[in-house]
Amino acid sequence: MTKILAVTNQKGGVGKTTTSINLAASLAKVKQRVLLIDLDPQGNATMGSGVDKRNLAATVYHVLLGSKSIIEVCVRAEAGKYDVVPANRDLAGAEIELIQLDNRETILKRALEPVLANYDYILIDCPPALNLLTLNGLCAARTVMIPMQCEYYALEGLSDLVNTIRRVRNNLNPNLEIEGLLRTMFDPRNTLAQQVSDQLQQHFGNKVYQTVIPRNVRLAEAPSYGLPALYHDSLSKGTLAYLALADELLSKAEQIA
Ligand code: ATP
Ligand code: MG
Repeated sequence: MTKILAVTNQKGGVGKTTTSINLAASLAKVKQRVLLIDLDPQGNATMGSGVDKRNLAATVYHVLLGSKSIIEVCVRAEAGKYDVVPANRDLAGAEIELIQLDNRETILKRALEPVLANYDYILIDCPPALNLLTLNGLCAARTVMIPMQCEYYALEGLSDLVNTIRRVRNNLNPNLEIEGLLRTMFDPRNTLAQQVSDQLQQHFGNKVYQTVIPRNVRLAEAPSYGLPALYHDSLSKGTLAYLALADELLSKAEQIA
C-alpha cells in the first residue's frame, strides 16, 4: 500500500522542506517510486527539486481548486528521480478561495486517489502554519513526520501540533498517526540540544527516529543548485543521514507488513 506522509510542523524553518526533498531522493535511490507534493506557497520544495516555480502553467493550486488533476500538474524532478506536484505564489490565495468549498479539507485526499497505484511513497511538504493547506495535507496522509530542532521552545509548539493531529483524527481522518519525530540540524556539542533530545525520547519513546539529522552545510547549499544533497555531495554527513532515515522508514514498514 502507498505510504502517504505529511511532513509537518507549524514552526518555521525547522527542516520540513529539506527533509521532504532529501527523503524523496533517498527513497528514490533505493528504487521506491516517490511523489513529492509541495503544499507551501513559498515553493521551496519545488525549487529545491530543480523545478523552476516561475515557469509553471499549472500547480497544486489548480488541483485544490478542482481545475486540474494531479497527473496534469505533476512534473518529473530529474535531479532527484522522483515526481513533484509543484507550488508557487498562486497558492497563497488558495485558502480564501477554498473556504467557500464543501469538504474543503479533503480535496487533496480525493485528488490523490487516481495516482496512488503509481507510487510507493507520497511525501507532502506542508507550510509553517496550521491552516487549510496543512489540514489538506493531514487529511490526505496516513502518517505525520514532524521535523524539529532540539531547542527550548520546540516542545511547546509540539503540543499544539499533537492536539491538531488529535482533532483531525477525531473529525476528518480517523487513521492518522504520528509516524515519527525527526531531530534536525542537530549539534551534539550543544548541551541544551542534548537535554531537549532526551526529553523528547522520554515523552515520545520509539516515535523518535533513531536517525538524527546533523547540521550540515551541504544540506543548506544544495537547493541553490536545484539538487537534493545526494547529487550535490554524495558523501556529506547530511546526505548519509537522509539515506539512513530512508532505511529506517523502510525497515519500519517491513516490520509492520
Ligand atoms: P519553512 O517553515 O519556511 O517552510 P522548513 O521547515 O521547510 O521552513 P527548511 O527550509 O528545510 O525548513 O530549512 C530552513 C533553513 O535551514 C534552510 O535555509 C535550510 O537550508 C537550512 N537547513 C535545514 N536543515 C539543515 C541542516 N540539517 N543543516 C544545515 N542547514 C539546514
Ligand atoms: Mg518549507
